[in-house]
Amino acid sequence: MEEYFLCPECGSEEVEVIKERGREVTLRCLDCGYVWQITLPKAVKVPLIVSEHEKSFKTYAELPLGEEIRVGDIVEVEEGEVRITGIELEGQKRVERAKIDEVKTLWGENLSFPAVFGVSIYLKNGVTQSFKVKVDREEEFATGEVLDVGGYTFKVEKIKTKSKMINRGKAKADEITRLMGHAIRGRASRKLEIYKGHKRD
Ligand SMILES: [Zn+2]
Repeated sequence: MEEYFLCPECGSEEVEVIKERGREVTLRCLDCGYVWQITLPKAVKVPLIVSEHEKSFKTYAELPLGEEIRVGDIVEVEEGEVRITGIELEGQKRVERAKIDEVKTLWGENLSFPAVFGVSIYLKNGVTQSFKVKVDREEEFATGEVLDVGGYTFKVEKIKTKSKMINRGKAKADEITRLMGHAIRGRASRKLEIYKGHKRD
């Protein structure tokens, strides 16, 4: 749902807004100097419930009427970038995609909030130690890696993501729901930060 403009003369993306009057926008191409006017589509304010792990807040997304929205789309709101995770229509009907005009409420995940996922460490005595950690969404984790969480050193044996279980491979923090592995002796390559509950930076 990103918005950008292309010069109709030369195709350049280097375009600046030189005048805005309501939905009437005058643009100029920085490459060839061409000036033209467009009318932006009518926008509606759609209620959006944004989650930041265990907490959530309500805001509004301004979206163009007549267009479609899908689960997975990223919308820009005052609070940051939000990935759509749910779309509700009239009568509490949940769908994967819909015309914006028909949407009653949207749900989303704040992408500026770190990824939070579980870690299960299997100890020698048969006890499983579980933690929640917070990690930068772009960070990657691989099986075989040795990590430190809460003073335990363990080897990642399995990575559970939102869609599958990885026995050998890697995944981005954004996708991960849990890391699992046995405690070992050795040196960790990374120490992960324990998630201590919702807090804004
Ligand atoms: Zn141009």
